[in-house]
This record gives sequence, structure tokens and C-alpha cells, in this order.
Amino acid sequence: MSRYLLKGGFVVPVDGSRRIIRDGCVLVEGDRIEMVGPREEVMPHAKGAEVVDAEKCLIMPGLIDTHVHLAQALLRGVVPDNLTLIPWLRDWVWRFLGVYDHMDAKASAALCILEMLKTGTTSFIEIHLHSRYGFDGIAEVVKQSGIRGVLSKTIMDMKGYATEENLMPPSMIEDGEACIREFKQMYQRWNGQADGRIDVWLGLRSAGAVSDKLFYEAAEIAKEYDTGITNHVAEVREDLEYYRRAYGTGVAGYLEKFNMLGERRVYAHCVWLNEEDMKKFAETGTTVSHCPSSNMKLGSGIAPVSDMLKHGVNVALGCDGGPSNDSYDMIREMKMAACLQKVRTLDPSVISAWDVLTMATRNGARAMGKLNMLGSLEPGKKADIVIISLTRPSVTPISNPVSLLVYAASGADVRDVMIDGKFVVKDKKILTMDEEEVIRQANKHLERIVSKVDPSLDLLKTM
Ligand SMILES: [Zn+2]
Repeated sequence: MSRYLLKGGFVVPVDGSRRIIRDGCVLVEGDRIEMVGPREEVMPHAKGAEVVDAEKCLIMPGLIDTHVHLAQALLRGVVPDNLTLIPWLRDWVWRFLGVYDHMDAKASAALCILEMLKTGTTSFIEIHLHSRYGFDGIAEVVKQSGIRGVLSKTIMDMKGYATEENLMPPSMIEDGEACIREFKQMYQRWNGQADGRIDVWLGLRSAGAVSDKLFYEAAEIAKEYDTGITNHVAEVREDLEYYRRAYGTGVAGYLEKFNMLGERRVYAHCVWLNEEDMKKFAETGTTVSHCPSSNMKLGSGIAPVSDMLKHGVNVALGCDGGPSNDSYDMIREMKMAACLQKVRTLDPSVISAWDVLTMATRNGARAMGKLNMLGSLEPGKKADIVIISLTRPSVTPISNPVSLLVYAASGADVRDVMIDGKFVVKDKKILTMDEEEVIRQANKHLERIVSKVDPSLDLLKTM
């Protein structure tokens, strides 16, 4: 069994104590963390372990991105930058996604996973995979790459989103019964596969694309399969208007109506929550996946995250998609999350670097239902570990490492990434994927997609 001693540097365990261990060590055996502590405590137990020098580094738990669109990575820079959510979806994103075949989606997923791994994300939750993306090919990429992921099957049976005139193209619409059937097949084939790194969830489409009957059925199936549900919720004001018009309720009322509040219920955005919604989310252990960059870029609004935290809501972080963020870099996302709350409240004390680091690790683990095995560096937990190098000018001088991580660092400072006790990134090089080939394929598939959507489209003029 492999044993590693990650030695020296600052260890930031995020174990609830908010301690930083100067000159610390992490001992890893097989896929688990064996010991975390100061050098003199850990060293006597590390005989025979391979030593990984982490001087001038920060050692921390892997980042958990709780809202990802694997298929959208290819659309970075393709969709115009200055649109609000509904025209952005209707006139661009759906048209492009609607021409994908399995190979396009696989190329996009590989690009997205490559970026996530190289920037320190060790686990992610994919919001929904359309049948046209090819679930097996994407699951294979997850398996080969070494990342840990929740793959959710799209669940829908209607064609709208939020407003009457906002309709999906036929190529994006799926049949409700077929969705459920495919979820079951995918669950049988992939749930718990890749040494337990893959989970299969239900990825509901937003209100307007799911009938009441299918919402109830999805909640029942989640219970029967003991699995999670994720969805976009209250992202824009039009969502709130829809809940009011269709169900006569607010946000929590809509979710409660369909038995969709609880643990492993992860709702992206939740920009428009009120106090009553927050109380319901907190009472039931429902997770908000906060996506600050996406909300800012699409002009969707500012989620009241510091209020949610005060109410005890489990708030995790998400990068969302290629054309709305436009990166899958969770370190940058932590800074966005912190700064946005400070400017929302005109009070820089409402959220700290520790708060957002906790959102990006422990709260993400809880969102996945895996806080007992992920989200912090503690003996017995899975060895999902990131080593950040504090040597570039932008993270110098070495001072408070948690402040440096959140406000000064970016994914480019990630040096090593370990998942399940195996290095997947070492000295900034990916070990489990052919980086050049992934990039070559991404460029090739974008060309194919553009030619299928509109061969005369000039990407230099879309901005
Ligand atoms: Zn999204």
C-alpha cells in the first residue's frame, strides 16, 4: 500500500477548528489520511513513507465545486458576454448544446475536468446531463481522470423555462419517462463505480420544464434509490414570479410542495431567498450552491449568502459553466464570494476568508452527503488533498496562508493534487490525462459545433 508524507509548509485542515499548523505534515496511507499535525508529532510515524516536500506551500483539503456544467466548457468565449440569463439560454446556449453529439460532450467534459483538476478541484456535482451528451463517455472520462464526481441525469418533460415564450429547441427537450428510465440505467451501471468516486443523482430542470407529476415522481425515486437531487433555483427574478404564478408559493414553498427539501438536495444560485426560505433550508439541511461569478456576469442578482450563513444554511460554492463564469477555478470563486458579500452589505466583516474556504470544502462535502469522508484533512478521511505553492510574486510574501489563498492566489498556484491517495497533478502537470490532446480535441469540437449551428458565424463578432 502506498504511503506518503506531505512535509513542511502550512497545513490548513479545515476541520472546524480554524487552526493553521505551521511546519505541519500530513501522512497518507492508501486512500486515507492517517495523521495530520506538527512535523515533530507526525515524523516518528512516517517510516518508509515517500516524502513530498511542501516547504513554502499550503496543504489543504481538495476543493468541491457543487455546481458544474461539464458540457458548457466548450462554449467559453462563444456565447456573448453581455446578456441576461433568459436570452443567453434561449438564443445561444440551448442552440449550441442542442447540436452536441456524444463526442462533442465528451471533449467538453474532458476539458472541464482537466481545468478543475489543475486548479485544485477534487470533487464536483454536475447539474444535468442530457441524453444527447452520452452518459457513458462522460463517466469514462471521470473514471480515467481520477476526479470524484456526482453525475446527474436530466429530468424533464416540458419545454419551457420561467416564461411562456421562453421555449427550448426540440433537440434539447427530453421525454419524462425516458429520463427516469435512463437515470435508472445509469445508476445501475455507474453509481459507486471508479472505486466509489462516481455517484449518480437526479438533475431536475428548472420550473417550467418539469410537470408536477414528474417532480413528485423524482422525489420518490430519490428516496427509493437513496440518492441526491440538484436543480437551478431562484436564479433570476423570473423564477420567483413563476413559483408565485404556478404554485402560489415562494422558493421554499415550491420545493416543499414537491418534497424536495433535505440533505443531498443541492440548489444552485438561490439569489432570491427571503428569511422564511432560509429558515426552511437550514431546518432541513438543504444546500445552496452559491455561484457568484455567474450571478454577476449574467446580472442575475446578489445572493444574500452572509444572511444564509447566519441562519445556519449549508452554503457551498459552484463555478457554474464555461460561458457564465468563464472559468472552473474554485480559488478565484472563493474571492468572488467573499468580496460580493462585503459589497452587498457595505460591511467587510460579514464574511471571512475562513467562511468561504469552509464553503468550498466542508460545506461542499456535506452537500454531497460525504462530510464523513471528504471536506477536511482528518485521520480516517479520504486523501483528497491539494498543495498550493506560495512562491509566485502574486502570493508573496508568505504571511497568513488562508488570507493569501482566498484573496491573492488562483488556480495557477496549485502545485499538486491527490485524490484517493493518488497523485493526479504533480508539479503542475496532469498525470491522468493527455493535456495536449484534450486541448486539441476541444478546439476541434468547437469548430464542429459552430459548423453545425451556423457555418457563417464569426466568433470574433459575437461579443
Ligand atoms: Zn447552472
